[in-house]
Amino acid sequence: MTQDKITMLHGSGGQATGDLIKSVFAEAFSNEVLGQMEDSAVIPGSGTIAMTTDSFVVTPLMFPGGDIGRLAVCGTVNDLLMRGAKPMYLTCGFILEEGLEVSVLKQAVKSMAETAREAGVLIVAGDTKVIEGNGGMYINTAGVGFIENNVDISSAKIRPGDAILVSGTMGDHHAALLGERMEIETEIKSDNAPLTEMVAALLASGLELHAMRDVTRGGLATVLKEMAESSQTTFVVQDEAIPVTPQVRDFCGLLGLDPYYMGNEGKLVLILPEDEAEQAIEILKKSRYGDNAAKIGIVCDDTPGELIAETAIGGQRRMDVLQDEGLPRIC
Ligand code: MG
Repeated sequence: MTQDKITMLHGSGGQATGDLIKSVFAEAFSNEVLGQMEDSAVIPGSGTIAMTTDSFVVTPLMFPGGDIGRLAVCGTVNDLLMRGAKPMYLTCGFILEEGLEVSVLKQAVKSMAETAREAGVLIVAGDTKVIEGNGGMYINTAGVGFIENNVDISSAKIRPGDAILVSGTMGDHHAALLGERMEIETEIKSDNAPLTEMVAALLASGLELHAMRDVTRGGLATVLKEMAESSQTTFVVQDEAIPVTPQVRDFCGLLGLDPYYMGNEGKLVLILPEDEAEQAIEILKKSRYGDNAAKIGIVCDDTPGELIAETAIGGQRRMDVLQDEGLPRIC
């Protein structure tokens, strides 16, 4: 392909579309299933299937620590992992605005391919459309994974007496994007990462994993409140125990943001029996992307459906899911 920018012709469905698919997507995503170039991917598998879908509309397309391509794989793979599924297959639909730099598209596709390899998934189907616009790019993905027979991970299994763990620091993705957008000089990088290895280690450990959620849009408080509500238990967390890097803490202080509501793209919340918490933290810390894993609270049954945050000096406050547009949106 010789052009530098995407034009409406690339969405024609004809020669230019074929060239774009061959020169940008087919090579980067190459695998046996995709290589068949049929109308649908026929893939092996049996048992309990997990499926998810997500759309990625992030600005800017490239940001410190990642880009829309890496993000698209991580977001989809992590949602499959949170139910204890082994992620296997992804589809990707690209919606490109005319004027998009082909080099930017290529970078995103390369990054998507690399992240898919890291996450152990095959991209088995794809689609490209071109629309009028201003050089933007959007990606929709669907993910398929398989769940082993004995695995049952869901918020319905949360019990009073469980411990609440997080796999790392909060707010990194959100702060990295805002910093880039607002042209604030920081060293903060997005935490966008596929948690395949981490979850595989947890599943292999034999620990009684009750529930997992990845902490994305809406932040930690939103995820915890939703889990407390759906399990009709009380989540009590300690402010002091929430891992936040000094850089993100400073950034939040500067802009008046609350790390409890900042999005991540490579962190999970894990709920399991309190007496297994220590072992789980050890496993998380040994896993890639789990260095700062910590226990942040416990589940009890005082006030079903509530999320309570405790300050260092013993004060308590009820927290809710993210309300309105609490802070600048990142997706
Ligand atoms: Mg999720």
